[in-house]
Amino acid sequence: DGATISAARIDGLAAQHFPACMAHLHRSLRRDAHLKHYGRLQYTLFLKGIGLSLEEALAFWRAGFHKVTDDTFNKEYRYNVRHAYGDVGGDSNRRGGGYSPFGCQKILTEHPPGAGDAHGCPYRHFDADNLTALVQAMGVADRAVLQGVKEDKDTQKYHMACNRVFEHLHKQEIKKAKDEGIMTSNQLETIVHPNEYFKRSYLLKN
Ligand code: SF4
Repeated sequence: DGATISAARIDGLAAQHFPACMAHLHRSLRRDAHLKHYGRLQYTLFLKGIGLSLEEALAFWRAGFHKVTDDTFNKEYRYNVRHAYGDVGGDSNRRGGGYSPFGCQKILTEHPPGAGDAHGCPYRHFDADNLTALVQAMGVADRAVLQGVKEDKDTQKYHMACNRVFEHLHKQEIKKAKDEGIMTSNQLETIVHPNEYFKRSYLLKN
């Protein structure tokens, strides 16, 4: 139920249900108490997509940016969060409820991250060692899976790598759902959107 997602739950949800791109944004935010503009945008829209309300999103970002003053937060960051939710901006932005969460295709191909950026897709934008470290931090210890991810990356099959990690991290739940015949064909399709990754993970583990 999207309505139950509060700012206080994000740490727990990130550890259990986020794809690599959002797990990395979350870890970067916690490490630096900051994210650069495009990372904030990618992450804000994802959180909106999982059901975080504007009010909770503002609480989440305010607490996350704990090194800045209220004044700085209000001047430099608050507006962009409200804008992403369609709370401010032009008529069409308001009518449309702000921006839609980015899909993998957009994240993989637009605005490649530069130095100090945390956005993008780790399967594409990280080097092999950093990617292995991130995937391990997400809970993957299996050497065959780590090797598979590396090969997917080398052959530019980034979605395959992401789905490989998903399947490994939800192995037991997927087996159970298949055994019980409650796995729909939709749930067997390749994930091509971070919000779909979250939704599927959340449904399988709850
Ligand atoms: Fe995120 Fe998509 Fe990359 Fe997975 S393939 S890490 S969901 S951008």
